Amino acid sequence: MGTHPLGLIIRNVSKRYANGVQALYNISLDIPLGMYGLLGPNGAGKSTLMRTIATLQEPDGGQLFLGDIDVVNQKEAVRQTLGYLPQEFGVYPKASAEELLDYFAVLKGITNRAVRRETTEALLKQTNLWDKRKQKLGGFSGGMKQRFGVAVALLGNPRLLIVDEPTAGLDPAERVRFLNLLSELGENSVVILSTHIVADVSELCTNMAIINQGQILLEAEPLEAVAALKGRIWRKLTDKRALPALEQEHRVISAKLLSGRTLVHVYSPDRPGHGFEPVEPDLEDVYFSALTGCFGPVSQQPKAEGVAL
Ligand code: ADP
Repeated sequence: MGTHPLGLIIRNVSKRYANGVQALYNISLDIPLGMYGLLGPNGAGKSTLMRTIATLQEPDGGQLFLGDIDVVNQKEAVRQTLGYLPQEFGVYPKASAEELLDYFAVLKGITNRAVRRETTEALLKQTNLWDKRKQKLGGFSGGMKQRFGVAVALLGNPRLLIVDEPTAGLDPAERVRFLNLLSELGENSVVILSTHIVADVSELCTNMAIINQGQILLEAEPLEAVAALKGRIWRKLTDKRALPALEQEHRVISAKLLSGRTLVHVYSPDRPGHGFEPVEPDLEDVYFSALTGCFGPVSQQPKAEGVAL
């Protein structure tokens, strides 16, 4: 077992809902300090795991440790050092950013007025909302609301910050601004970014896991995982009607439309045959290889050498 005295350790966590859905099967992860990506399609179990870490629900079995805090049995200790930005959060539309942040700071226990003013000012500046602090939250754009959510989540300097699907509703410029904000946070705390968007992880995270149907398919450093696929991904531009036959013959990991044709990526250690060209793999290839069962844990792959940053 790797030890991360300040990180998060998850061991054999399972969860089955009352309706019979098994959302998590025996999940174990080592999450070190820094930005960690939890990547998986809708319904994979990401939110269930995030809510479990955030002490909002209990697992059926298993253990979680944040440093030396036992998450399941010491919920208050976790909550004191947790920042959680859920997928959707309500704001009071008639309050200004400054007023509501001040209110949340009181709830967080920052009762000294001067300390509170200093804290909220720093957070509004950090999230680039200082100029908008007097504006009502009801008029905020999606990106501004998300950044306000980060300001709230950062109150009290959390050691653990959880951000669940944060970029889903943002336009491209807002998304970049939001990711830049997150990238500055990861140095002294655990930041878990749960997302179905591969680019969020490839741009930000130094470590990641891929989850599907309640199981971890891959736990890796993105750069290593990409390097381990080198020479194994091939592409072919084809006709949609030819896809079923290709799927019979090859391990097709993805097929997407490109100018009305279908661009197929195939996993194969050797050249798959006529008409295929080699592809420089990226994290999307890692993701689809893992989802289609072509790509197991990185430690079982030949170690890639000389991964350049
Ligand atoms: P993700 O966040 O990756 O989309 P979730 O953790 O929300 O995945 O969901 C995992 C599975 O558990 C899905 O099949 C979902 O329908 C189911 N699920 C989630 N929450 C509940 C709940 N409160 N009761 C019953 N089933 C749930």
